[in-house]
Amino acid sequence: MDAREIIAGLNPASRVVVVGLGRSGLAAVRLLKKMGVQVSVSEATPREKLDPESLAWLATHGVSVECGGHSKELLAGADLIVVSPGVPLNLPPLRAAAAAGVAVLGEMALACGLVETPVVAITGTNGKSTVTELVGAIFRAAEKRVFVGGNLGTPLSEYLLGEQDCEALILEVSSFQLDTAPGFAPAVAVLLNISPDHLDRYLDYEAYATSKFSIFAGQKASSAAILNRDDPELMQRLAGYPVVARQFFFGEAAGGAVRGATIAGSEIVVSGLGSGAPEKYSLAGTDLGQEPNIHNAAAAILAARLLGCPVAVVRQALAGFRLLNHRLALVAEIAGVQYFDDSKATNIGAVAAALAGMTRPVVLIGGGRDKGGDYGLLHEIVRARVKGMVLIGEAREKMAASFAQLTKVELATSLAEAVLLASKMARAGDAVLLSPACASFDMFSGYGQRGRVFREAVAALANQGEAK
Ligand code: ADP
Repeated sequence: MDAREIIAGLNPASRVVVVGLGRSGLAAVRLLKKMGVQVSVSEATPREKLDPESLAWLATHGVSVECGGHSKELLAGADLIVVSPGVPLNLPPLRAAAAAGVAVLGEMALACGLVETPVVAITGTNGKSTVTELVGAIFRAAEKRVFVGGNLGTPLSEYLLGEQDCEALILEVSSFQLDTAPGFAPAVAVLLNISPDHLDRYLDYEAYATSKFSIFAGQKASSAAILNRDDPELMQRLAGYPVVARQFFFGEAAGGAVRGATIAGSEIVVSGLGSGAPEKYSLAGTDLGQEPNIHNAAAAILAARLLGCPVAVVRQALAGFRLLNHRLALVAEIAGVQYFDDSKATNIGAVAAALAGMTRPVVLIGGGRDKGGDYGLLHEIVRARVKGMVLIGEAREKMAASFAQLTKVELATSLAEAVLLASKMARAGDAVLLSPACASFDMFSGYGQRGRVFREAVAALANQGEAK
């Protein structure tokens, strides 16, 4: 059954359990209350660690809250379970309930099942947030009213609690959200790339890739699918999945012209969307002028053009776009060395893309909490681009063992120390790149804090230089 059918089957006596009480879970509870069904919550965190204000709101609205774990009885007795994006589907009570026939929907799928507004959905291992924000920026520049959110920023349920006056919903969609969205049918679906990630939550890589391709599964023949022709993983697998929507590609000119967006350096030529002449977009001198953001821009341009944003407006939005924090941002240049904050690079694919886009020799700062990926996939690009490496965190020994034959490797106990060591390895004309290939939670509260600590260390380095 798809999400709309499941929702249509609900009535005031239906018992719905929301699993996970983060921002998405809370928004889902409010939405379900508005729909008039019986709602309760199950949350793994103990009650004393939950936000008292949220608990008070739930209590006054008659929502019972189970804390500190998920009971089998509560979940098995539900007519529908709504899960937040961070909740692993392999939790035993959740698996048992699903096996017993209880329908399970993600928060985004629940919200999507309640609207008819066209959806632009963006998935991929890396680049989702950047492309989602960029598509949003183009639509806004075209004076179209859009909601931008999903996995990033605002959960879609929050939109449904408001006025709902948008012409399009631009949604960043994670694989976990796709796994709980039966019948999801975006008007435009973008698959940016596939590389190993989240292998702690999937049976194997195949299962992860299948999840990513499911973004196309519910589309109609009149919908559009946008795919990265330069991603070998994606292209190899494409033949194995039925994509009924019209297909558009983005990729480098060297691979031949594409129906969609052809990339030559920092120029993108869009063709084959209709009867019009090819359209040229130049990213030189913009925040998007370096890979992987040229590919990201190509995907975003296609999505925006397919939904009618005018060429001139697209060009203007590209020129004004600012990259999100901690995604390959140039932080400072000190003594001829450029320092880049790519703290959001928490997997191997993101690091590979960052290195591929670098035009200078790189001193790489990496490490953190290992996510089970294969560092061997970085060997070739490390050999080509990396002159030295400084490693931190839990994964540093494992990474050192993988890279020590290829480049000079040093270990540090803090990020500040790593910046100092990297600055000593670098010469004028080099780049120091924080692109960790790991999660941050062993030393930081998240990638944001890791990036901020990096920037502070770089600023301290700059001050030292001035003081000399
Ligand atoms: P996501 O939302 O998928 O995590 P982000 O836009 O937040 O993607 O970027 C995450 C990381 O991936 C950053 O380090 C960024 O530099 C890198 N990145 C961005 N776009 C791509 C891409 N197309 N391919 C590979 N890496 C990318």
